[in-house]
Amino acid sequence: MSEPTFNAPTRKPVRLCVRCNVVTDAPVVVSEVHQSSGPGFNVYACPKCAPLFPALPDAFDLLNGWRGRNEDGAE
Ligand SMILES: [Zn+2]
Repeated sequence: MSEPTFNAPTRKPVRLCVRCNVVTDAPVVVSEVHQSSGPGFNVYACPKCAPLFPALPDAFDLLNGWRGRNEDGAE
């Protein structure tokens, strides 16, 4: 008689893969979205898709890329 133990204190973090839309219980953070208003959120992928994403981009790199130089006219 061996029954599975369902007494885990916390539920597994189940997330939707952003690429294949499959629910995975082993989500991998592939991107962090930062918002100016309110908290940001993480983008998850399943372990199968995670290697297909580039390494986590640095938030500051993203901001610098989005802003561009001609936005503020400096330089
Ligand atoms: Zn996936």
